[in-house]
Amino acid sequence: MRVLIIGAGLAGLSAARRLADAGAGVEVTVLEARDRVGGRTRGIEVAPGAWVDAGAAYLGDRHTELNALLAALDLKTCPTGMVGDSRFELGTAQNSAAENNAAESRAAETRPGRFPPLNAVALGELFDLLADLTTLVRPEAPWLTPGAAELDKTTVAQWVDSNLRHPDARRFFPLFLGEMMAADPADISVLHMAFYLRSGGGLRYLNAFEGGAQQDRVDGGAHQLCERLAVGLDVRFGEVVRRIHATDTGVTVWTDTAEHHADAVIVAVPPVLADAIDVDPTLPVPRATSHTAPGCAVKVHLVYPAPVWREHGLSGWSVNVSGPLLSTVDDSPSGGTVGVLTGFVTGAEAHRYAALPPSEQRASAVAQAARLFPFLSEPISFHLTDWVNEPYSRGCYAALFGPGDWMSLGPSLSGPHGRIHWAGTETSTEFFGLMEGAIRSGHRAATEILSFTPETPSRRSR
Ligand SMILES: Cc1cc2nc3c(=O)[nH]c(=O)nc-3n(C[C@H](O)[C@H](O)[C@H](O)COP(=O)(O)OP(=O)(O)OC[C@H]3O[C@@H](n4cnc5c(N)ncnc54)[C@H](O)[C@@H]3O)c2cc1C
Repeated sequence: MRVLIIGAGLAGLSAARRLADAGAGVEVTVLEARDRVGGRTRGIEVAPGAWVDAGAAYLGDRHTELNALLAALDLKTCPTGMVGDSRFELGTAQNSAAENNAAESRAAETRPGRFPPLNAVALGELFDLLADLTTLVRPEAPWLTPGAAELDKTTVAQWVDSNLRHPDARRFFPLFLGEMMAADPADISVLHMAFYLRSGGGLRYLNAFEGGAQQDRVDGGAHQLCERLAVGLDVRFGEVVRRIHATDTGVTVWTDTAEHHADAVIVAVPPVLADAIDVDPTLPVPRATSHTAPGCAVKVHLVYPAPVWREHGLSGWSVNVSGPLLSTVDDSPSGGTVGVLTGFVTGAEAHRYAALPPSEQRASAVAQAARLFPFLSEPISFHLTDWVNEPYSRGCYAALFGPGDWMSLGPSLSGPHGRIHWAGTETSTEFFGLMEGAIRSGHRAATEILSFTPETPSRRSR
């Protein structure tokens, strides 16, 4: 049997590896638009032998397939540094954002732990409301959640207007959503937010470092996963898939330069890009709608001779209302060669920041780091990864399901359509949007193909 896989990210390569390892005469070719494997995982060498993650970085114990894959590929993890106090630049609750951007009100405060210096009761109520929504959702079929249609047609911005009264809750919430989902509250439905939090293991797990989803990093960089998965596989680079034609007997796939034939195809690209592929016969349900927004994140790395914040009792973690860096974290590579502060710019701020000239991007990030950590000298290097404008990602960390998307797209997100199978983190109802979801989706699609017999109903177009 010959199988084509579109996309050499974690999902596509996990599927390819499983099919190739199954033997049984399965011949696999992976078609990749870029000139590299990894998709939304990518490494940057910031000093000789010292790598940081420009894309996905963090994982936890519940990411069982990812941990198994790391072990199989002989990769190790290292803990995410979170020892010491945090810094917060949250302005004054009574001020407008513009007032908080004024230098005099930007003074950062130091606090133990990660709980921000805002009204604890207001934040407690916010987390209770989110926990109620998260408990309500049916993670394996969000469209069957009680009240799903209503939750799906309401944007999170509308939910905030109706439910969050205290200014501190309203101030903190966009930062929380940006950190968790790289989402602007106006872009996603309440059902999507609730589903995402539940699918990732719940609010507490997703948000936590020690014992949570951000506990560890891949030592040497998460990009190594795809690099090692690809060894020995037939991966063709620069192959942008434009069209798929499926019949009862096979599939034909066209890229800009070639035509490929196979018995089945796995499409392992984000939904907005999958929807741009011309599929014949037309799919009964599209892969994305005009409401499906790409998540937006810009990640910056400020590299210093050493993680000096640790000597000052600080973890490197900060949360900031005025931007551009909405949060920072210590991502120094193990081995102690350099100190690295990673800055996240997400949601609406990511669009504004991505549009700035490079000199302004660097200057504003360096100035903010110096405000937060005044003992820092000028960084020895600065790296910026603009996922907002990456043509072959369109969803970072993941695609954002907007109003109505779950009700219309959800029921046909994962199941095959004749000889066309779907993978990618956004087709996984478990750990949607994360590396774990990507791997699970790739394994699921490979299993669909391996369990195929000529009588299998899944081969018929639905
Ligand atoms: C900044 C950032 C931070 C993140 N942080 C984390 C984190 O800490 N932990 C975590 O678990 N996850 C994180 N994620 C999410 C994680 O990276 C993704 O969930 C995962 O890598 C998705 O894998 P995938 O294979 O589904 O998709 P992708 O990695 O997007 O792979 C799809 C592949 O398809 C290719 N492609 C697209 N269109 C076509 C076409 N038409 N023809 C051929 N090829 C095509 C792309 O080039 C790409 O290689 C983060 C992502 C980003 C960007």
